[in-house]
Amino acid sequence: MGVAIRHIIIVGGGASGALLALNLLRASGGVTATLIESRPLLARGFAYGEAAPFHLLNVRAANMSAYLDVPDHLLDWLDGTSSTENVTGEGRFRFVPRRIYGRYLAEQLDALTLSPLGRDRLQTIHGLATSLERTASGVVVGLENGRQIAGDAVVLATGYGVKPQNRFPHQWLAWAPIDTDALASVQDVLILGTGHSAIDHVQLLLAAGYRGRITLLSRHGFMPSVHKPVEPARIDAREVPFGARLSAVWRWVRILAKQAESAGSDWRAVLDGLRPHAQELWQSLSDAEQARFIRHARSRYDVRRHRLAPFVANVLDRLQREDRLRVIAGRLQSVSDIGEAAEVVIGGRGTDFEQKLVVQGIIDCRGFELDPAQSNNPVLQSLLTQGLARTGRHGFGLAVDRDCALIDDAGEAASDLYAIGPLTRGQFWESISIPDIRQQTAVLANQLVNAHATSPV
Ligand SMILES: Cc1cc2nc3c(=O)[nH]c(=O)nc-3n(C[C@H](O)[C@H](O)[C@H](O)COP(=O)(O)OP(=O)(O)OC[C@H]3O[C@@H](n4cnc5c(N)ncnc54)[C@H](O)[C@@H]3O)c2cc1C
Repeated sequence: MGVAIRHIIIVGGGASGALLALNLLRASGGVTATLIESRPLLARGFAYGEAAPFHLLNVRAANMSAYLDVPDHLLDWLDGTSSTENVTGEGRFRFVPRRIYGRYLAEQLDALTLSPLGRDRLQTIHGLATSLERTASGVVVGLENGRQIAGDAVVLATGYGVKPQNRFPHQWLAWAPIDTDALASVQDVLILGTGHSAIDHVQLLLAAGYRGRITLLSRHGFMPSVHKPVEPARIDAREVPFGARLSAVWRWVRILAKQAESAGSDWRAVLDGLRPHAQELWQSLSDAEQARFIRHARSRYDVRRHRLAPFVANVLDRLQREDRLRVIAGRLQSVSDIGEAAEVVIGGRGTDFEQKLVVQGIIDCRGFELDPAQSNNPVLQSLLTQGLARTGRHGFGLAVDRDCALIDDAGEAASDLYAIGPLTRGQFWESISIPDIRQQTAVLANQLVNAHATSPV
């Protein structure tokens, strides 16, 4: 890092931006920060802001501390707070509502900004960042209201983009309030997607009093696995086949999973034990092997890696036993309006077989937009248009180097522009969950503070 870094602007005050701010404030030294967030509350981005009280984290509480160096911090906070409604499970294996987790992160930030260490070092601005420019003396972020914030470095923490939704007849917009009065006359709802957002919507329908049938549809029809209380396997970096072909990596993982089973544990312990090495392993794969993973293995990996809290899995099991929930693997071919309902044609996977469903509601839960070029986020568009950033590997997020520095159109890494969280998925793959973001923000904060300490005043 060649520039003098005294003031850091963080664009996006969701979980990633909040964790970076926390880490910057905890580091001694004179670095100051401005956090720009368009929503009214901090640390309440999509995951922790939109959730209903019954939407649980999909990671056990023991792994969700805000602080890398205080792993039991969330557990201790839970023991000392009255905010425990809807927490399920026991001890380290508790699953906390996402809303409560957002409150936990925001409380940490409040406490630190009021403490002697953090006082006067963090400014929060609520507004939409629309532009980012380099000037002779640093960087300037422009806001929608015309205000300009100057700093020495910018860290982008804008999270996922929202995919523009397809419009179907009888569509109910995802995350929009459900018309509970209308639900009584509905017998069949189709949810597009079988991932966590789709399951969130199953829970939302139940909570709204829906008694009919729900069909989940995705290309593979895979549902997330359920957590079990197993401890992560200890995997030494020297055992990991960095740089091997994907097929060899899978063989190695399968052998470890068999060994774990023989020892009374299972594959979950292996995937969890691999987490500390996952970013390095991903970066050691060639572009072609990464693309192969995305094409052929991602869906299977995702459903094992992003698991369900047992409480939620039990709800889904019950619905399936009552024949109120079914999962279909196939391609959505067409949706036509047939008056009071929609007729949906689904093509089988790799077959000519078609099936027709008649549903009164369709909810599209097919994920987020990871390609910033497709997002309507003005600050990302501003960077891309000026050539200060380019799209990340495989179209995921922004291109960054191993230090999270943005890579520009000419392939040069910046010394004043950075990205964290889901925006860095192409480079690290595992950078979307709190345990990874916590690590990433602790390391980046340290780098930025050190750059400040060694820079000319
Ligand atoms: C539904 C869901 C459930 C999840 N559950 C878990 C879990 O249980 N455990 C776990 O570890 N991980 C979980 N994750 C993953 C992870 O925690 C989130 O992806 C994480 O919140 C990412 O944080 P972020 O701050 O990068 O993005 P976001 O949370 O999306 O926040 C980005 C913020 O930036 C703001 N912003 C964007 N653009 C601008 C702009 N131009 N100007 C100003 N502000 C801007 C947005 O308003 C937003 O608040 C979940 C993710 C989702 C989507």
